[in-house]
Amino acid sequence: MEGFSQYPGDYWAEQVEAGYPLGLNEAVNMNRELSLHQLMRIANNLASRQVGNVVSYAVSYNINYSNYCTASCPICAFYVPMKMKGRTDRGYELSLDQVRAEMAKARSAGATEIHIVGGFNSDLPLEYYEQVFRTVKNELPGVTLKALTIPEIDFIARTTGNSLREVVERFRSAGMDAHTGGGAEIFNAEVRKQITTPQKISGEKWLEDAKIIHSMGIPGNSTMTYGHVEQIEDIIDHIIRIRDNQREVPGFLSFIPLKFSPDNTPLQKSGKVRMPASGDLDLRVIALARILAGSDIPNISVYWVSLGKEIAQVALNGGGSDLVGTAFSEKIFGATDRKEVTSTEELNELVRQIGKIPAQRDTFYRIKNYF
Ligand code: SF4
Repeated sequence: MEGFSQYPGDYWAEQVEAGYPLGLNEAVNMNRELSLHQLMRIANNLASRQVGNVVSYAVSYNINYSNYCTASCPICAFYVPMKMKGRTDRGYELSLDQVRAEMAKARSAGATEIHIVGGFNSDLPLEYYEQVFRTVKNELPGVTLKALTIPEIDFIARTTGNSLREVVERFRSAGMDAHTGGGAEIFNAEVRKQITTPQKISGEKWLEDAKIIHSMGIPGNSTMTYGHVEQIEDIIDHIIRIRDNQREVPGFLSFIPLKFSPDNTPLQKSGKVRMPASGDLDLRVIALARILAGSDIPNISVYWVSLGKEIAQVALNGGGSDLVGTAFSEKIFGATDRKEVTSTEELNELVRQIGKIPAQRDTFYRIKNYF
């Protein structure tokens, strides 16, 4: 850093202001040299320029079509092993009537977006998903359907003997508008091995699949699950790989860091992770996401369900610009005892309390209303 400024904060602020895309080693050095406050200040300045003073969110309703899963990811408290089907009353597959009932609740909640994910259920044929998607669109014709994680789509392609492109094409015809961006976890293979099982695709495959899906005109979010066994280098590497993928084939609507919630997960039961990540790491992750990826993916989302509302508010002044959504009926984090609930009024108030402007958006991050 010789030859630039006296303070590390100034040096890194200059580098970032110059629009220079930081590489892994530089970003690791920056994170080590800067205090949390310095990092957040750089990120907040960038966010002001890239997205202004608005904090957006979608009115979203979540449905989880099935919790049976052939994978047994140590980070997951949601799944019931597929082999337990018929031998436990904890597993389920939603019928179309149950989907209709869920859509009635989504309608009353004013949802503009339906978010659908589930486990890797090897019993469900391609037609099941098509019927679920068509039912959603029939019941709520104006709604946007944000369906499935990339590993789920890949799993369905593999188990039904179709190519990824064929599956995406059929799902698009059935009403899929976007993918959820889930299942990215952490791309580093050594870390990924400890938090997922081989049934879940590698980080490299996740990124390749994303490029294929995006090239077909279906966009989606990107995510990262942190706060388990990874190091800060793995977090930075993950963000940079998302950024570089976006430069190659655009299609990520946002980047959503997901804080790992250990309660009830095998990773917690094995003693490998006892505590959630610190507030310091939560805020650094959002700031790093803004600094490393904000010029390519301007919507850096703060998922209040996993962070808690107060840390979420602080993160919105340190690089974050979106609250994801209302997440009505969310069950994945709910399975880890994070039973956070909210209303649009409360999200608006959370944003106003920090001096920003709340705005409702659609799935594609187009603003619908300011409050
Ligand atoms: S994280 Fe997804 S793939 Fe892994 S066990 Fe849970 S539901 Fe299955």
